[in-house]
Amino acid sequence: MKLKFGFNVVHKPVEEYFEYASEHNLTHLEIDLIKEHSFIETFDTKRINKLRGLSGKFGVTLSLHTPYTINPSDKIPMIRDANIAYLKRCILVAHKLNAMHVTTHLGNCNGLPSWTRMRQQALERLSTNFREVLKDCEKYKMKLALENVNPMPKDSEFFYLGDNIKDFEFLFSKLESPFLNLCLDVGHANTNEGPLVYIQKFSCKIINVHFHDNNGKYDDHFDVGKGNIPWEKVVDAFKKIKFFGPFISETFKAKPHESRGALLEYFDQLGNFA
Ligand SMILES: [Zn+2]
Repeated sequence: MKLKFGFNVVHKPVEEYFEYASEHNLTHLEIDLIKEHSFIETFDTKRINKLRGLSGKFGVTLSLHTPYTINPSDKIPMIRDANIAYLKRCILVAHKLNAMHVTTHLGNCNGLPSWTRMRQQALERLSTNFREVLKDCEKYKMKLALENVNPMPKDSEFFYLGDNIKDFEFLFSKLESPFLNLCLDVGHANTNEGPLVYIQKFSCKIINVHFHDNNGKYDDHFDVGKGNIPWEKVVDAFKKIKFFGPFISETFKAKPHESRGALLEYFDQLGNFA
């Protein structure tokens, strides 16, 4: 089985990355939808057809990444509905693009740290809203990959859902669907419980991996090997669960092909990966 590497596309329109990607054995592009040139509305029939053509020509698969600003757990009905509609639109566009999956964050919440029930209430709302989105995932056979994030400081009045393992345990037990999966962000995991626990607990759920390094405290997006992530163990754990990718580079400094090379060295040390 061949390992699959790719990278997150943010700064320029995705059309401009295919050549570079295929030249460097990067066979997956995850399109971040946060900038104007990649707003979901820009994916009309013409653009979708062009992208399908490029994807076939260069042998590069695609996925979508919703902006980290969306909040599918929102309490206010009109805003909640807009978030659900947005996710459904992403699912439809991904289907038309013949994409592999849609990666999304779980949303956020505001409230004093002492209001301990707030997180649970937000998770309950989230699972109700995801149930609605999953109907479209089933209809279009499109997988949703929920991404874990880094926790805010303990006394923060703002927090993200999905910054710890329990949130995912709750959602995966509440919503048993083959279309609800995990995008493991190795760097984010390293700022809380660590990536190894995620890999062990959610071995069947992982369909996408984001990789970058840090020292366990901040979400630095360092190059591979510049922080304290135990990459040998991480790569070995992926080998054990037979996860072959996509491994999506999210390093800020190193270019995607350099990050691919850095991670590949750890794989090579293990010998025959398959
Ligand atoms: Zn990420």
